[in-house]
Amino acid sequence: MPELFIDGAWVSGSGGQRSDVVNPCDQSVVRTVEWAGADEVAAAVAAAKGAFDRGDWAATPAGERGALLYRVAELLVRDSEQIANTETLDTGKTLTESRADVDDVTAVFRYYAGLADKDAGRVVHTGMQNVLSRVVYEPVGVCVLITPWNYPLLQLSWKVAPALAAGNTVVIKPSEVTPLTSIKLVQLLEEAGAPRGVVNLLLGDGARVGAPLVEHPDVDMVSFTGGLATGQSIIRASAETVKKLAVELGGKNPNIVFADADFETSVDYALTAAFLHAGQVCSAGARLIVADSIHDEFVAEVGRRAERIRLGNGLDPATESGPLVSAAQLAKVETFVASALEQGARLVAGGRRPDEPDLAKGFFYRPTVFADCRRDMRVIREETFGPILTVERFADEPGAIELGNDTDYGLAGAVWTSDMGRAARVAGALRHGTVWINDFHPYVPGAEWGGFKRSGNGRELGPTGLAEYREAKHIWHNTAPEPLRWFKG
Ligand code: NAD
Repeated sequence: MPELFIDGAWVSGSGGQRSDVVNPCDQSVVRTVEWAGADEVAAAVAAAKGAFDRGDWAATPAGERGALLYRVAELLVRDSEQIANTETLDTGKTLTESRADVDDVTAVFRYYAGLADKDAGRVVHTGMQNVLSRVVYEPVGVCVLITPWNYPLLQLSWKVAPALAAGNTVVIKPSEVTPLTSIKLVQLLEEAGAPRGVVNLLLGDGARVGAPLVEHPDVDMVSFTGGLATGQSIIRASAETVKKLAVELGGKNPNIVFADADFETSVDYALTAAFLHAGQVCSAGARLIVADSIHDEFVAEVGRRAERIRLGNGLDPATESGPLVSAAQLAKVETFVASALEQGARLVAGGRRPDEPDLAKGFFYRPTVFADCRRDMRVIREETFGPILTVERFADEPGAIELGNDTDYGLAGAVWTSDMGRAARVAGALRHGTVWINDFHPYVPGAEWGGFKRSGNGRELGPTGLAEYREAKHIWHNTAPEPLRWFKG
């Protein structure tokens, strides 16, 4: 079956470009897919614009749009095991993680299904008897949704569910590295009854498919999740046509541990924060910032436990962490390790590929811990997006806050302490879009997600995640117009 979905039909790409989707745990080919050419890019935007201009989707009662999303949620439940399996083959993450992703995706569809008809706008007080002033929410139009490879299905759900709830039409462009569950989700949207042209899917890379979509004059909005450099190029490219933009970029996320935190729990979470999905998480707690008084003991214990993490095939229930997603990502991690050593960081754990022969074909890298890190090091300044945990230390609360905010990014951070006053002060002072107190990683569909500073300019999830896909229109209705006689003649 062809993999591109345009104007309600599954079609082949005209560009002749085919691409192997590779299982990162052994480099076997999971599926070969066809990429879109210029003709499909044009056709998909035309289909989305045609569907939007016909107006029937935007005019569909919001509750009915929500009902479609509820049906998608039910289909996700029906096919959850197959979808989780595919996500693991595609990304390398463990099946446990993929199952959790599918559950989260289902919850996101349900959340926006419920929110779709809850808020149509508001009446504004004007002080005038004969004037009715209303603000109504309307869809933005044709939305291009561009997603990364680390959470392929999850990141797409954060975009497509609110975009459709708000009445937009969409062109989806998943990462060329991990397109499989996006294909599946579009099949489910079709099965749930998405009208022709409302949902379109293009496969391909950034240069051939992503960039032409961003530049296209008939695209009204781009919602992008990915790396900083790509985000910057999308911001530049969209300037010409003044598109609405929501960009969700990287993070360099501090995990701050005070001496009064529960030792065992905070060590345990320091590992999950950094090494979940082999560190390929935008909100990974890659910067551990530890109080001087517990530093040495803490680092020793984190290092000891990091050495014990079991790498393997994500489908094997004994596996605790899978591989990196690609050879390119593995090479990038090795470059960061080399630079950390060169700049004087002390290797505490990992720092190498695994020795097991059965892992040799995969893109595996041992969970790595560096102590004695300084804030000027490259491994501290840049997002590594791999299993690298760096440790810095602090003397007092202002010092911890200062370190935690010393980054160009501002996506997420955590503070560990048993002093609730301090927890509130530090959480208030951190310039990050999400702050966890005595926890790391959880999120809920009802709470906004997004970054301060260079981590992005939009918000996903929560009511703001829906507002991103809406225009606010002010309608001023003078119910008893009379001549104003401003000009007397
Ligand atoms: P990437 O920037 O390389 O690619 C992301 C997507 O953009 C892909 O679909 C790619 O094909 C497309 N793309 C590339 N060049 C393009 C261009 N010029 N125009 C349009 N589209 C283009 O990112 P990645 O390596 O796939 O993902 C990892 C990054 O994503 C990390 O930096 C991570 O922090 C970030 N991320 C952020 C969040 C968040 O919520 N803020 C969530 C997940 C991932």
